[in-house]
Amino acid sequence: MGRMKDLYIQKLNESLSSNLDNIENVTSPTDILCPNCLKDNLVQYSSVDLACVKCGYDFIKVDENTVRIK
Ligand SMILES: [Zn+2]
Repeated sequence: MGRMKDLYIQKLNESLSSNLDNIENVTSPTDILCPNCLKDNLVQYSSVDLACVKCGYDFIKVDENTVRIK
């Protein structure tokens, strides 16, 4: 799990540094609470991909307020 989180943070940092022009399109916070750890809201990094910064899980958006684990 730690490795997944590291990879996510690395990917996030790469996205942030290489896409400063459209940073809002890279990641955006959502109101969806992480269904895995219930500790933080998910961040959205594409039209259907979301992730939890706390536990590192990746999710796919299946509905406006519904996600499932990838
Ligand atoms: Zn989580």
